[in-house]
Amino acid sequence: MKITFLGAAHQVTGSRTLVEWLDGRFFLVDYGMEQGENEMLQADLPVAPSKIEYVFLTHAHIDHSGLLPLLYRQGFRGTVYATAETTNLCSIMLADSAHIQETDAAYETKKNLRHSGTAVEPLYTAEDAAQTMELFYPCEYGKLYMIDEGLTVRFTDAGHLLGSSFLEFFLEDGGQTRKLVCSGDVGNINQPIINDPRPVSEADYLLIESTYGTRIHESVQSAVPVLTNILRQTFSRGGTVIIPSFAVGRTQELLYFFREIKQNHLLPDFDTFPVFVDSPLANEATAVFLQCSQDCLDQQTRDIMAAGQNPIWFDNLNTTVSAEESKALNTDKTPKVIISSGGMCEGGRIRHHLKHNIWDSRNTVLFVGYQANGTLGRIIYDGAKTVKIFGEEIDVKAQISLLEGISGHADREGLFRWISSFEKKPACVFVNHGDDDSCTGFAAAVTEHFGIPSSAPYSGSEFDLLTGEWIRLTDPVYKENRKPDKTSSPASARKENFYAELRNAVAELDEYTRRMEGHSNHELKTLKDRILELMSDH
Ligand SMILES: [Zn+2]
Repeated sequence: MKITFLGAAHQVTGSRTLVEWLDGRFFLVDYGMEQGENEMLQADLPVAPSKIEYVFLTHAHIDHSGLLPLLYRQGFRGTVYATAETTNLCSIMLADSAHIQETDAAYETKKNLRHSGTAVEPLYTAEDAAQTMELFYPCEYGKLYMIDEGLTVRFTDAGHLLGSSFLEFFLEDGGQTRKLVCSGDVGNINQPIINDPRPVSEADYLLIESTYGTRIHESVQSAVPVLTNILRQTFSRGGTVIIPSFAVGRTQELLYFFREIKQNHLLPDFDTFPVFVDSPLANEATAVFLQCSQDCLDQQTRDIMAAGQNPIWFDNLNTTVSAEESKALNTDKTPKVIISSGGMCEGGRIRHHLKHNIWDSRNTVLFVGYQANGTLGRIIYDGAKTVKIFGEEIDVKAQISLLEGISGHADREGLFRWISSFEKKPACVFVNHGDDDSCTGFAAAVTEHFGIPSSAPYSGSEFDLLTGEWIRLTDPVYKENRKPDKTSSPASARKENFYAELRNAVAELDEYTRRMEGHSNHELKTLKDRILELMSDH
């Protein structure tokens, strides 16, 4: 009985874990795609895809599900177990991902025709994605599913995305049992629409994510008043609010907030402001949210529905789909909200909306999620005065704002709170799904706080779940083609962070010095001498 750590080892995306629960019998937990820039090489699947009998999915996000159609293409014909909501979201997200793969491959092929003439194959096709969906078996929360000899599973609400789950595996081999819990992504508390993460009572082994394993979310004002203020300011200027948003999850949260603003007449002067969701994927996802089981929804959302209201729908919500309708939005100058994807402005229709609106100081570009290094979103957020969109240099004159505090991931406190909910604590904790520092830092924090042996294995490491011993501990393998671009390497990002921290410390020192005015000459001289001494050290 063995677990092999493959993906999301010391990085945030590409979750893939292999379990051999009986000799020569394998299942996977998630099979996600890597996204963005990652510096470490993640090990390939060590067995043929045709030998994998089952895949259990924690949730639908592409970094957990996005390589399933590739697995299918390579011969996997087993069953994919996921909640009904994850299944429904995967059916639109994998189709969308396949479309991107096909479009990118066609573009590369066209480019190659001018040189070598070689055609580029997509990673997988829409047909692969459709065939993969045929393998799904939708499950419910809280039920025990006896999958096979020695393999039982339960899905428990992880509160991260509609249908997201903690997976509790009850494994048995030769009369010995082990319980393995895989967290997938652990949700944040008090997110709109969905439940908070549910407790899990026990585990022998826990595999847990660490996206925010070393950080604490800032406690911020609730989103609605902040959002209301931004809308009021922008509409008063006669401007439009452009929101780059992830299509699945975040967009529906925004619709929930807008419904609240309208229902409670928080903007009496602009009560009928229109909201446009310009993303076909987002609109399909909204339809999945509207059809989901009540089990997935938090009490407030159920109460809203019980009162006969739709929690994410309101007057003047427009779901534009065609490219023509999308373009028409930019000639219509009525103050409005446009929500469009992608969330980091890297692709999708958002770029058109930015091009047509970011130069106008009446408008606002509102970020509602993390912007990775090197993305257009990050460049705008960091205060660029001009940006290049579709080859055109465009002034950034719009107000740039951030809606803070709406993360879908638990922070360190949230992760600790969830581990605390285990009545029988795991004997061993494995940490993945966090950047290098988060994985290592969170593993150390778990050991210190709970006294549980914890580690962040590198990709390819193997652990024997029966003996409780490592079979193989690998070293990190760095990608050869790591981008030499210094501005995007994690090491330089860390350097930037430290530099920013240093600047903050200096600002604090300045503030401290100001408050010292009026203190005794002795105190002032001592402080001055210590500062000069500190500088002379460098
Ligand atoms: Zn996720």
